[in-house]
Amino acid sequence: MKWKGKRQSSNIEDRRGQSGSNRGSGGFNPMLIKPLLKILFSKTGLIIVGIFLVFSFITGNNPLSILGQFFVGNNEQTETSKTYLGSSEENELAAFSATILANTEDVWNGILDNYREPTLVLFTGYVSSACGTTSSATGPFYCPGDEKLYLDLSFFQDMERKLNAPGDFAQAYVIAHEVGHHIQKILGITDKMQQLRGQMSEKEYNQYSVRLELQADFLAGVWAHHSQDMTHMMEKGDLEEALNAAFAIGDDRLQKQSTGMVVPDSFTHGTSEQRIRWFKKGFDTGDIEQGDTFNANPL
Ligand SMILES: [Zn+2]
Repeated sequence: MKWKGKRQSSNIEDRRGQSGSNRGSGGFNPMLIKPLLKILFSKTGLIIVGIFLVFSFITGNNPLSILGQFFVGNNEQTETSKTYLGSSEENELAAFSATILANTEDVWNGILDNYREPTLVLFTGYVSSACGTTSSATGPFYCPGDEKLYLDLSFFQDMERKLNAPGDFAQAYVIAHEVGHHIQKILGITDKMQQLRGQMSEKEYNQYSVRLELQADFLAGVWAHHSQDMTHMMEKGDLEEALNAAFAIGDDRLQKQSTGMVVPDSFTHGTSEQRIRWFKKGFDTGDIEQGDTFNANPL
């Protein structure tokens, strides 16, 4: 893909290096009380307290809050001021993802009126969202509750090394698939599915999930169609990369693979053949009207 130098989206939340669970932990260490009291009641301690009170009087700060910050620390601040230094390979993947997201914005703004651009959250390990706490082993996912895409960039490395689905266009397809879920949310399809959930058996619901997933593949194909019209980013072999990825991460292929590997957003994505066919249909037509996977028979 010829993606370098193109616009990068600003709808990125870089949470890499922050683990979802330990934010705001820590605090005052009780072991410090004795030595602190000792210092406080010594001569130097009294002088320090005096200087401190004068200082807070001049600056207008509450002396207790300054003391609190000094001794207890402000976890929120240390967390956000810590910049994550990824490897150059990882940072390039981050730049690539921001570029592809920008491109999906350009395409979908052209197709839908009042398109709400989603945010892409980059994370490492675990992430918390409106959908709960999720491990990166789940693979990339979209959370309808906060309309954000979640991606641990190591998934792209896994695609290449473990899933035999290499190539930048294969990675772009994964992002476009998650954006496809966002389109489904905007169009009200996701909410309809959620309503249906309580009214049917698990097995029936899974069949609907497959249709939802194949539609996201179709929408990724629609994106690729218009993206190519607009930017000509695709190069020879790129379409094959996406089709190969669709093949490699289909349910049937995944179940044949050994355990301990990652799976993109759930096990209910349809067979490799179905995924390729729907992506290709979106790519060939570029027409969202052609993507009614819910009434397609055969699927
Ligand atoms: Zn999906």
